[in-house]
Amino acid sequence: MMRPAEFHNEPLSDFTSGTVRQEMEQALRSVEAELGREFPLLIGGRAVRTEQTFRSMNPSRADQVVAVLHQAGPREVDAAVEAALRAFESWRWVPAEERAALFLRAAHALRRRRLHAAAWMCYEVGKNWAEADADVAEAIDFAEYYAREILRYAPARPLPPAPGEMSEYQYIPLGVVAVISPWNFPLAIPAGMALAAIVSGNTVVVKPASDSAATTYLIAEALTDAGLPPGVLNVITGSGAVVGEALATHPKVRMIAFTGSREVGTHLFELAARTPPGQIWLKRVIAEMGGKNAVIVDDEAPLDEAVAGIIASGYGYQGQKCSAGSRVVATPRAYGEVVEMIAERARRLEVGPAPENFPAGPVINAAAERKVLEYVEVGRREGRLAAGGGRAREGGYYIAPTVFVDVPPDARIAQEEIFGPVVAAIPARDFDDALRIANSTAFGLTGSVYSLDPVKLARARREFMCGNLYLNRKCTGALVGSHPFGGFNMSGTDSKAGGPDYLLNFLQPRVVSHKYR
Ligand code: NAP
Repeated sequence: MMRPAEFHNEPLSDFTSGTVRQEMEQALRSVEAELGREFPLLIGGRAVRTEQTFRSMNPSRADQVVAVLHQAGPREVDAAVEAALRAFESWRWVPAEERAALFLRAAHALRRRRLHAAAWMCYEVGKNWAEADADVAEAIDFAEYYAREILRYAPARPLPPAPGEMSEYQYIPLGVVAVISPWNFPLAIPAGMALAAIVSGNTVVVKPASDSAATTYLIAEALTDAGLPPGVLNVITGSGAVVGEALATHPKVRMIAFTGSREVGTHLFELAARTPPGQIWLKRVIAEMGGKNAVIVDDEAPLDEAVAGIIASGYGYQGQKCSAGSRVVATPRAYGEVVEMIAERARRLEVGPAPENFPAGPVINAAAERKVLEYVEVGRREGRLAAGGGRAREGGYYIAPTVFVDVPPDARIAQEEIFGPVVAAIPARDFDDALRIANSTAFGLTGSVYSLDPVKLARARREFMCGNLYLNRKCTGALVGSHPFGGFNMSGTDSKAGGPDYLLNFLQPRVVSHKYR
């Protein structure tokens, strides 16, 4: 294989162009015609149906069925793990160059389906066009980036020789990886975890989130088009508590790659520590979890830029991003003006159906709507409501972009992940206090600081403790390669998806020392 050219991020689709808009409308029409399609489990390359099915629904139109999925049980979990184990025996020996070449073909296959994949997300998870398009672009980036990364790790490295010996350091795959993914990036996140595992020579069983399972199948389609052998990627769907847990605790699963909530992540971390009979290893776990990310606005901040960043990161995809800026921490001279500007901008955000490309869409499902509205009630007691504060319209799970101001730093809405369009503004006494407040939650995923004062920026660079810190830039929209992604503390294991160490999570080092004769 020729060495691939340098990695570049996939450009985003330009929906200001009339042609691209027409193509997107066409893609939406064609996906709409497919809604209600059935997605059988994918085990060892075969479509497997079970007796029980469930549906994923359109959050913008709560009565519209998007897809019919099959509920896997322990038998299907076993079958999927067995299929992955069998495939591992050959896939592990496929040269890295061939795996990388296959990934470049898979990236191309995704590129060809670009707007079609985005359209599925508009319907299944309520992303507007730009959000859905960025999700596909990120999945393409993961395929391209990890294809190049494995070529870096593949050659065995010579070690300083002991007398009379030759030693080498190799990276080898682990085995079967369970990939358990959330609904909020239904293509990019399962793709990121599964592709990293597969390109490293492992085989995988993916358990996508139930609310977004149909979209996740697009990864399998692209990889199959690219020539991935059967059994290397298996997909099983069904309730997390049943099928996810059975998969994660399976004794033949070598590693769990999880992205999702703190509650489920910590639970799986505990379960993974057990060594049931038949399991001959300590399970490796990466668990990337939630956030309560702060945007600091300093007295010297460029206010217009700060407010634009807060609106984008607080309300983009309705605040349903782990990286969402859900706290605004401002110092005294900036505070009043900033909160007024945010409230005014939040009130102006139009809320409506995602396929129609409203700037703000629905939250994912009825349970999420309930939970966010409960937090809004908590917020009314803990702060002062400045915008939103209830449902925005009927027909789907629409919540008005909401701003609470004068929120104490230890309030529940300032400490707990709400995962909806709710921003809490917290006044700080000075920059020291702002940094202290920003660092005062159990999470540590992303953060932003807006300031033109180089001394304060330097302090934030050193003292603001989160996995992804952005200076004078919004805290969402991490790019593969430029912004390796992952957080501290209860935000997870900081595995840094899309970064130069990520594949190491899916590899184990091995040393071979050969004595001369
Ligand atoms: P979730 O409820 O934790 O679900 C994540 C996955 O785990 C789903 O596939 C779910 O299946 C499964 N699951 C649920 N209970 C399980 C159990 N007992 N055993 C095994 N698997 C189980 O999270 P979510 O609501 O989908 O996603 C939102 C969360 O993800 C937020 O907290 C967000 O911050 C976080 N997130 C973090 C990152 C990051 O990189 N740090 C990125 C994106 C999202 P079901 O769908 O069938 O329940």
